[in-house]
Formats: sequence, structure tokens, C-alpha cells
Amino acid sequence: MNCVFVLGSGFSSDAGAPLTGTALGKIFHQGRVTRQLSELKSYISDFLYQGRSDWINASSLEEILSRLDIIRHYKPYPHVDYDEVIYFEELLLKEFIRLLSPDQTNYLEKSYQIFAGILKAGDSIITFNYDLVIENLLSVYGNGFHYPELSMCKNRASCAGVFKLHGSINMYYCPFCGQIYRFPESVTSHPLPGASGNKNDTTALLNCLNCSRQGKNIPLRHFIIAPTLFKSYSLPTLRSLWFSALKTLAEAAEVFFIGYSLPPADILSYQLFDFAARLSCLEQRVFLVNGRGKPAKRFKQLYGDSVCDTGMTFAEWTESKKLQ
Ligand SMILES: [Zn+2]
Repeated sequence: MNCVFVLGSGFSSDAGAPLTGTALGKIFHQGRVTRQLSELKSYISDFLYQGRSDWINASSLEEILSRLDIIRHYKPYPHVDYDEVIYFEELLLKEFIRLLSPDQTNYLEKSYQIFAGILKAGDSIITFNYDLVIENLLSVYGNGFHYPELSMCKNRASCAGVFKLHGSINMYYCPFCGQIYRFPESVTSHPLPGASGNKNDTTALLNCLNCSRQGKNIPLRHFIIAPTLFKSYSLPTLRSLWFSALKTLAEAAEVFFIGYSLPPADILSYQLFDFAARLSCLEQRVFLVNGRGKPAKRFKQLYGDSVCDTGMTFAEWTESKKLQ
């Protein structure tokens, strides 16, 4: 009986990963002052907010990424340097990734250890988180992991498949051919396109092997997909990844949603769960581990009476599993 665990930001917040809603404040109000950060702040203020400075509190990382992505894609302004747009978008992602890098999160909490013990061979993880909490956890306490459609593992029968539907801080993609590259968990810093004099040791790794030619390298970009970045779904590997997640969900006997609220803005994910539930030939049981007071209405719309809202937080739920 295979289970699928769907992880949202609530899963990683116990490990100290910031919720995306608080990311801008953490990037710009954390007391770190660097030349790049000041340039980034003035660029976003001037380019997207007509010089206003209240955007750090009033908007979100995902809103800014979506706006930059659409502008970069449609190129609507005649006098804008679009290489500069790419540079600042990557710089913003780099600062965000700094908040999520493995040494900034603590996956050693007891509840995570118990969770790793709950996973059985054949179970899968679908995560909307960009951080590496689940990977580190499965490497240290579990039987390892593989990324379906992206990487194999030696003993596939025993290690869990981890579907990272919104990308990951250790993944990059080529803007020309769409190839997605997965790097070791430690490679989360990225030389910025257009930044001069960056002699990072990993520079050679972070160019597209298919598209780079002698004298002209094609730098890879962070594979971080905010829910509203619809354009990114044109990447062929990402489409296969979503399709594979759909099949895995449809074949699951039990689905657990942990720290995931099914946000209304994420229409694609809603459709994924809806379609999988319709495709499934099994009497699926669905469990919500989202804490107390979190509305289950949208989950009930999808799964009807199969939904069991545990009302427990992740820590309480793992504790209850330990006792079983
Ligand atoms: Zn390429």
C-alpha cells in the first residue's frame, strides 16, 4: 500500500526555513548590508514600484518573481536592458536561496527523525518546497531518495521518490534548451549571469553542456518556480515531472498533506490533485496534518468524505505515529 506525502511550507518551517511570505523582509531587513543587496533593492524599487519603498512589506517574493518573469518573457518596454532584468532576478533568487541553504535549516528535530522512520519502500514525497530539508532527512535517517525524471538511485525499490514540483535550490535550468540540471545538495550558490570576475570553482558546472560552445557559455539559471510562473511549465522535463507526480498520486492508497494549505493562487496544483483523484481506481484515504483551525473546505471539495482532518501539527502527528 503506497502512500504519498504532500509537503508544503508548513513542513519546513519547523526546521527554520522561512515561509515565502516573510522572505522579502528576511532578505532586506536582516541587517546584512552588501553592495549587491543595496543595488537589488533600488532596482526593484525603481523598476517595479516607481521608487516607492513600502513594497518589502506590501508585496511578496513570488509577486516580484512573477512580474520580472513576465517582463523578461514579453519584453514590452523598448528602453529596458533585459540582461539587467535577468541579472537582478537571479540576484534576488540567490539571496532567497541563502535563507534556505542547508546550514540555515535544522532537520535534526525529533519529529523529522520519526517521519523518516514512517516512510516505507515505495512511498513518495511530493513537495512544493525549494529547500533541502526532506533530502537531508532521507539521506541521514532514511533509505536515501531519488528525483523522479531527474535522477536515478542505486536501489530504487527502497529509496523514496521526491517530486520537487516548484524546483529546488540545488537545481538549475538552461534558458535555451530547457534542460534541468540537478547538482549535489551543497551546490546552491550560483555565479550570476553577467557578473564579472567571479572565479567560483563551480562556474564550469553551471553552464549548459548542450548549448555552450567554445568562447560562448550559456549560464544556467536557478530552477525556482513560484506558483504563478506559468511560463516555466513549458520546460519539457518539468511537464514530465508533473505527469509522473499525477500517476503517483493516482496510484496512492493514502495521501497525507503536511503543512500544505492548497493555496487558491496555485491553480495548477489544484488541478493536479483533482485530476489524480478522478483517475484513481482506489478508495483513497486522505489525511490533513495542517494543525488546528486550518480550513479543510478545499480538500473536501476535492476528496469529499475521504478526507480526515487530524487537526494535528506535524510534531503532534509524528508523536502520535510513534505511539502506534
Ligand atoms: Zn541548454
